[in-house]
Amino acid sequence: MQALCAANTTAGQLRSPICCILGHVDTGKTKLLDKIRHTDVQGGEAGGITQQIGATFFPIASIQEQTRKLRRAEEKVKYEIPGLLIIDTPGHESFTNLRSRGSSLCNMAILVVDLMHGIEAQTEESMRLLAMRHTPFVIALNKIDRIYGWKPSPWAPFSETYAKQTDEVKTLFRAKYQEVVTSFAEKGYNVCIHTENKDTNTFISMVPTSAITGEGIPDLLMYLIAMTQRTLRDDISLINELTATVLEVKVIQGLGTTVDVVLSNGILREGDTIVVCGLNGPITTQIRALLTPQPCRELRVKSQYTQHREILAAMGVKISAQGLENAVAGSPLHVAYEPEEVEFLQELVSQDLESAMSNFERAEAGVCVQSSTIGSLEALLAYLKSAKVPVSGVSIGPIYKKDVVRASVMLERQQEYATILGFDVQVDPEAQRLADEMGVRIFTAAIIYHLTDMFSKYINDVREAKKARDRAEVVFPCQLSIVPSCIYNRIHSPAHLGSAFGVFCSDPIIIGVKVVAGILRAGTPLVVMTKEIVSCCPDDSPSTGRPPLPRVFAQDCDIGYVGSIEFNHRTVERASKDQEVAVKIVNRQGVPPKMFGRHFDEHDILCSKMTRKAIDVLKTDFRDELQMDDWKLVSTLKSHFNIS
Ligand code: GDP
Repeated sequence: MQALCAANTTAGQLRSPICCILGHVDTGKTKLLDKIRHTDVQGGEAGGITQQIGATFFPIASIQEQTRKLRRAEEKVKYEIPGLLIIDTPGHESFTNLRSRGSSLCNMAILVVDLMHGIEAQTEESMRLLAMRHTPFVIALNKIDRIYGWKPSPWAPFSETYAKQTDEVKTLFRAKYQEVVTSFAEKGYNVCIHTENKDTNTFISMVPTSAITGEGIPDLLMYLIAMTQRTLRDDISLINELTATVLEVKVIQGLGTTVDVVLSNGILREGDTIVVCGLNGPITTQIRALLTPQPCRELRVKSQYTQHREILAAMGVKISAQGLENAVAGSPLHVAYEPEEVEFLQELVSQDLESAMSNFERAEAGVCVQSSTIGSLEALLAYLKSAKVPVSGVSIGPIYKKDVVRASVMLERQQEYATILGFDVQVDPEAQRLADEMGVRIFTAAIIYHLTDMFSKYINDVREAKKARDRAEVVFPCQLSIVPSCIYNRIHSPAHLGSAFGVFCSDPIIIGVKVVAGILRAGTPLVVMTKEIVSCCPDDSPSTGRPPLPRVFAQDCDIGYVGSIEFNHRTVERASKDQEVAVKIVNRQGVPPKMFGRHFDEHDILCSKMTRKAIDVLKTDFRDELQMDDWKLVSTLKSHFNIS
């Protein structure tokens, strides 16, 4: 339930739609807004990178002025909306925070793409976010003036300026344009130039623009107006219901902690009792001052606030009130018109937070996720789900010691998940110290994909390090036959046995083997597989008084491990099925050496000595190095060695 407000609205009346700008860094988002506003916020920012959230209201008169050159279209489009509220997004915070009960308050978006670069990492991330919130968007294919030889016609509609270009320039433009179309198609999106888009349900329009010359901007504005008036009427109908969401929480000199709010429906008044979500529970307070930017000026330019007694949607509003220090961005703002409504609204904001924090599959073993706002938490969880990163816990706000302790539970279960992924959050120094002591990893970033990239790299490093450690313990499955003609390092038969015993070789045993199945690797412990006892040699009968000399054991006999492998006189690390190689069989210090000719001979089959641990290591770390046949051999050896 939303609280009713006293606005007098006419049925069918439209409010100003809310539009976000998203895209990769440096594609020209800020410059594009500046150009529309005829101001220069971008020039005043460090490194030209947008760093704050801003909202700009474009009254319809200014849009009419800018679309003047599109006369033909203007005749067709009747302006019904009072203006356009554009949210200037540095990254995606505003878009993700602009939410109400999980859906977007942003009616449409401009996705800015640099014509010369096409789809970039944050373009993809923006598309994921837009899809997550089902937000329609138009692509501004920016920087057309960068095409070699482009002749600018300031503020001209695209078709007008395009018609004036030479054939060479048109060809260059078309080639770049086509590259972008193809790369979107590869991602599963149909896009086409707005002037040729006959089916807006199937194709996303692309408006070529230049934020430097203003070319194409009339088309972009006209397109936004036409799109909202044609397809989003229900979403932008002015209704007697207050809808507002906290975009950002900011400390402003002279005002204290304020909240920047997007009021998308209804009226806010000075003195209203508002209820918003706080880190430590719902916050109930009175609006002390309602501040808005001047028309066509940014919310972030602080000297230009005007104070209002009341504000009608849609508008970016700064609210000054007491007790807003712990307000959570991305949460809805409600007005309690009657004192009895307060409790109900407090419950409502708590439920919103709870549902955002519980709307994920909690894994037994997984990372902890922490975010500064509800909206970015939802976006991060959605992204981690698609990246198949399991999550065991979530939280909002700075990372404190209690969060580290919670993440440390994973040290026992799966060490790499003893990790906190913090999106746009501060880490308390004490928490960092504890994390370092306990071995909990904390990653923080202000861009979602940077965070997941960091985590993927970390997981890879951990797995590689574990693999390197386990390599010493891993036993690859192999079955070997002995090549009788290749027994090196021979020694004479013991004198008492005579020549009847044939060839002997010991310490180290060097013999030729053929890999019958599996993979032979240096370091593999070997056993003789034969199980029957063969008769002892005649001279060794009990009557001679000497103990019998069994050549084969009733049980598998360990004969040592593969010290090295040679193939074509070169040392190799491994040999595969059907390869014939020479192996040196050695024993660890203190283990009595076995003897070829006595403990085994050329009729025997050797195999790697498998254990439960060795099989587990194979499964967890070396799965990708074994083929189907190798796994079959693992299974055979497992039953041979009675491993459960
Ligand atoms: P943002 O990070 O997406 O907000 O990008 P900016 O608006 O800060 O622009 C990044 C750089 O690209 C700046 O140097 C701009 O002057 C430049 N730029 C932006 N739009 C255009 C354009 O249409 N044409 C040209 N030639 N340069 C542009």
